[in-house]
Amino acid sequence: MKEIIINWQKVQYQIRNSNKAKNIKISINSDWELVLVLPKKWFFQSQKSLIKKWEEFMKQKWNWILKHIWKTNNFKLWDNYQDYLKNKEKALKLVSLKVRYWSEKMWVSYNKIFIKNQRTKWGSCSSKKNLNFNYKIIYLEVTEQEYLIVHELAHLKYMNHQKEFWDLVCNTLWSEKYRKYKIKIK
Ligand SMILES: [Zn+2]
Repeated sequence: MKEIIINWQKVQYQIRNSNKAKNIKISINSDWELVLVLPKKWFFQSQKSLIKKWEEFMKQKWNWILKHIWKTNNFKLWDNYQDYLKNKEKALKLVSLKVRYWSEKMWVSYNKIFIKNQRTKWGSCSSKKNLNFNYKIIYLEVTEQEYLIVHELAHLKYMNHQKEFWDLVCNTLWSEKYRKYKIKIK
């Protein structure tokens, strides 16, 4: 992937040499990436002069590129939303079972469980003792799911991440190994 800054915006693109193309053009490949197609007559030019020409060309096509970026982003959002709708119930079932199991072991009481579609958060709990979990929990390993649920349940007792909090999490999960799980959202 190459990168170019046009009008303050970073644009990523690929380059494809084409024997057929008569002129330089922009297209989109099956992965929704921008592709700059270069005609034969451009193959052997120096890198420096090529970059200048690309830049000029892409500036001319700026509106088209913007539209493409917008479409791709919406496409991804839409994809994620469909996935969320499809798996929301499944996530709620899974979380409910595990929350019931662990909350009894930990002697904590909770109010309601909500399944959300957040970009950067796996879970949270509110002062009303409601628990929120990201639907993407269904894509995690079982040990990661258990850790996530015990983590949020422990927040019903301790709102911070201090020693008592980790003691509760670790004692509940029997071993330290769970503490090492650092899960990052994709
Ligand atoms: Zn926490």
